Amino acid sequence: MKILVINCGSSSLKYQVFDMDNEEVLSKGLVERIGIEGSKIKHTKTGLDSITTETPIPDHKSAIKLVIDALLDKSHGVLESLDELVAVGHRVVHAGEKFATSVKLDSKVMAALKECVPLAPLHNPANIMGIEAVTDVLPRVSQVGVFDTAFHQTMPEKAYIYPIPYGYYEKYGIRRYGFHGTSHFYVANRTAEILGKPIERLKIITCHMGNGSSITAVDGGKSVDTSMGFTPLAGVAMGTRSGDLDPAIFSFIAETEKLSVKDVDSLFNKKSGLLGISGISSDLRDIEEAASRGEQRSKLALQVLAYGAKKYIGAYAAAMGGLDAVAFTAGVGENSVTVRSMVCEGLEFMGIELDVKKNNVRGKEAAISSDSSRVKVLVVPTNEELVIARDSKRLM
Ligand code: AMP
Repeated sequence: MKILVINCGSSSLKYQVFDMDNEEVLSKGLVERIGIEGSKIKHTKTGLDSITTETPIPDHKSAIKLVIDALLDKSHGVLESLDELVAVGHRVVHAGEKFATSVKLDSKVMAALKECVPLAPLHNPANIMGIEAVTDVLPRVSQVGVFDTAFHQTMPEKAYIYPIPYGYYEKYGIRRYGFHGTSHFYVANRTAEILGKPIERLKIITCHMGNGSSITAVDGGKSVDTSMGFTPLAGVAMGTRSGDLDPAIFSFIAETEKLSVKDVDSLFNKKSGLLGISGISSDLRDIEEAASRGEQRSKLALQVLAYGAKKYIGAYAAAMGGLDAVAFTAGVGENSVTVRSMVCEGLEFMGIELDVKKNNVRGKEAAISSDSSRVKVLVVPTNEELVIARDSKRLM
């Protein structure tokens, strides 16, 4: 059973083909600069070298056609005919309150996703373009939508309602939604598997720390709180995003600097976080390197990032009334020995004890807490594509 997984952005499209009989990745690739000069497709069949082809790719439909050609290619393809493709699973960022699980896509679901565009104006239109392009090119293949927001739909009202006039929730749906749900779901479940315990009996904090970061409290397998909010701007400091702020800073900067709402929004989304504090880069590798050279503001950026995550761990342990495991994932969480150690430092009082040697690991599953640590700390590389493929298989 072969399933194509697609993660479609406004000018890029990532894909993977899974053989779901054994969950093996047969092929993966990336189409870049769709609609922009210099567009290209990089296609890799597992076990062979990648092939990069530069060619004009004016729109998402052309991108999907190229992907299909690559998948059917005699030497680098993984399909003999399109009939082998049982489903196409799509990552979709925002489903609002409409879907708490993955669903098969039809015209009703598409209408609901279009209604969510105001909630995710940068992401949902691109996701929708990807789905419509597949519908055009592969009209007979079933499609499934897997939503970043779905896993967090189990949050209780007290966690998702903001203390502003309630009418804004009713009128515009202003509430905490949370994001990276597919990643938090995968990492929490994998953590339970690694610990050999039923997830229903575990309290886990999953720290998805990458260019965008979010931290989630997973109690008994359900998301009960998460650091991102109405938008992915909230929570811990990120590469270029500010994370949590006193909301009055917005009007203060707008009035004092005579900036428009759009300008301040862009300031907090694109020029803040690690980049804003360090003045050097949004990339943690650059920040770590600059900090090791003694750059004070890069050191400070690291401290702000780690301190923010540490506070969420404390808050979520309190929210769940206990804690069994903390799992780190995504670019920073999987790779940064320094950030993990800074986040966990000083949390021994709540049973978190890192093992310095075990923490010296990058990009692979590992238990990094000491044998005596009451709370287990793990590195769990995320695999959102596998969740999308599994959900697509389940729904077929
Ligand atoms: P993601 O958004 O999950 O791709 O994560 C991107 C972030 O992970 C960037 O800030 C990278 O600097 C960071 N990252 C990737 N590899 C490493 C590494 N080996 N050490 C530290 N940070 C890393």
